[in-house]
Amino acid sequence: MGEVDAQPLLYPPLLKGGFQGIVDSHCHLDDLRFEGALPSLLHRAGVAGLDHIIVPCSKPDRWGCVSPCETMGVALHLAYAIHPWYCEGINPETYHRLACYLEHAVAVGECGLDLGARGGDLAEQVTLLRNQLILADHFHLPVILHAHKALDMLWGEVRNFPALRGVVHSFSGSFQQAKQWVDHGFYLGVGARVTYANQRRFHAMIAAMPASALLLESDAPDQSPQHWRGKNNEPALIVETIRALAALRNVAGQALVDQCRKNSQELFKI
Ligand SMILES: [Zn+2]
Repeated sequence: MGEVDAQPLLYPPLLKGGFQGIVDSHCHLDDLRFEGALPSLLHRAGVAGLDHIIVPCSKPDRWGCVSPCETMGVALHLAYAIHPWYCEGINPETYHRLACYLEHAVAVGECGLDLGARGGDLAEQVTLLRNQLILADHFHLPVILHAHKALDMLWGEVRNFPALRGVVHSFSGSFQQAKQWVDHGFYLGVGARVTYANQRRFHAMIAAMPASALLLESDAPDQSPQHWRGKNNEPALIVETIRALAALRNVAGQALVDQCRKNSQELFKI
């Protein structure tokens, strides 16, 4: 997820991927860049073959701006959390509001750690993460994790909650790191990075992971696939990620869609 972009939404050509039952496990429909555009976006998502989208509402001042619903044949499922980019100004009232939203959520997310330039004070990030892991444990909800340059540190925190399950969104670690998360029952979110050239190590790592560990994600409006880079992403473009990932793994696209759907249903109980 990223900063608000004042550019008007530019739509890519309507994509009919020939797939059915695609689950987008990570899409920021609450992002201001999508304001007023949801009916059109969801129509385009439906045409592309999507029927479920998980929406991680990760900014406290945007909680509640998207509701769980089914529209244009696409069901929206909500998750809530405080992203590590927004740890400033969090107080007990924020956690109380979060707990109220979590009563009707499919997951706690996205939360995590960010050791890049955009992450806040590290001590604050860790406190924020720990409090949210406690909430996830309390509500028996899976977690949607953000890890930027922080995979091992994140694992050091998550391992303190042995019952916790979840997905590491936009996973970009090494083979060994991926294996560690997968061996402990976590899923790996795979997005448009599989469509980028010059990502050989990443491609090899993702190709080697068991199909039972993968979730498809758009991360829209960020992380556009190769041909749409630099412009706002949207859920319908996940079709390109599916094609690229299926080619990498040498499987049929629909078989990949079906497996990832099953994985999403298991994790989010949708
Ligand atoms: Zn995200």
